[in-house]
Amino acid sequence: MQFRRSFLFSLAAVAAVGALAQAPPPAPFMVHQLKPNVYWVEGGGGNSGVIIGDKGVIVVDAKTTAAGGKELLDNIAKITPKPVTTVILTHSDGDHVNGLASFPAGITIIAHENNKKEQEAALAAGGRGAPPAGHLPTQVVSKNKENLKLDGVKVEVLHWAPAHTSGDLVVYLPAEKIVFTGDIIATQLPDPLIHLEKNGSSEGWITTAKGIDSLNADQFVPGHGDVQDKEAIRTRLAHTEAKRIMIKALFEQGKSLDEIKAAVGDPPPGQGRGGRGGPAFASFTEVVYKELTAKKGA
Ligand SMILES: [Zn+2]
Repeated sequence: MQFRRSFLFSLAAVAAVGALAQAPPPAPFMVHQLKPNVYWVEGGGGNSGVIIGDKGVIVVDAKTTAAGGKELLDNIAKITPKPVTTVILTHSDGDHVNGLASFPAGITIIAHENNKKEQEAALAAGGRGAPPAGHLPTQVVSKNKENLKLDGVKVEVLHWAPAHTSGDLVVYLPAEKIVFTGDIIATQLPDPLIHLEKNGSSEGWITTAKGIDSLNADQFVPGHGDVQDKEAIRTRLAHTEAKRIMIKALFEQGKSLDEIKAAVGDPPPGQGRGGRGGPAFASFTEVVYKELTAKKGA
């Protein structure tokens, strides 16, 4: 009995620790200034950018929930009395989009055309995590580059290739030398996260990271994590390129996915990825393996 009770107690303790590990408390909102007119806001989902224009505010990404979106707007109101007029979305994931539910109606929402398609598909599928119906993109980008002038601020929106998703946009402020990368760069993981279900691509990620590196900028606000410098972007790019070459070589030698994972030093199953909140997405190694398998089968 004694054994049984302590065994049950251990199970309960393990379950409690597991639950804690899976649902970390949401990070508090923190506003960081990059330039007199440019800020980034962490907490409540993906990082957001805040750019103060002549008469209004341009926001990059809108947090995960309606409450998060409202908290972002409340934080912006502490910086400036100007209204939010424009939102640019870096991609269609809910932790960057769904906070739009709290944004005023009638604002301009700029996104890549594939982002809009992904949101429309998610809306049609319904369920938890669907984007707010009243706030779909109002202006789509279909070219690889558009030079915009938003409220007196020069903003370049860039898309080199499908990378994190097929609808990624990188937001570049040439005068301020600041880049908002979206989840192309997300520093909570050593490897890029590629959503194959949104037609992302590991090869496209490398093309895109090279594009980001080519910009004349010195501050890179990632989708998650702290501001990066160019050195950090280059290190991440070099690590990813080398890892992809290694995975490809092992695949061509006929190695299994598990053999490849072990050879490239991925954490064993149950460790590393997942268990940190949110769904456990396919790892970079799994993504490249799937891409190579699909290519071989074609
Ligand atoms: Zn994302």
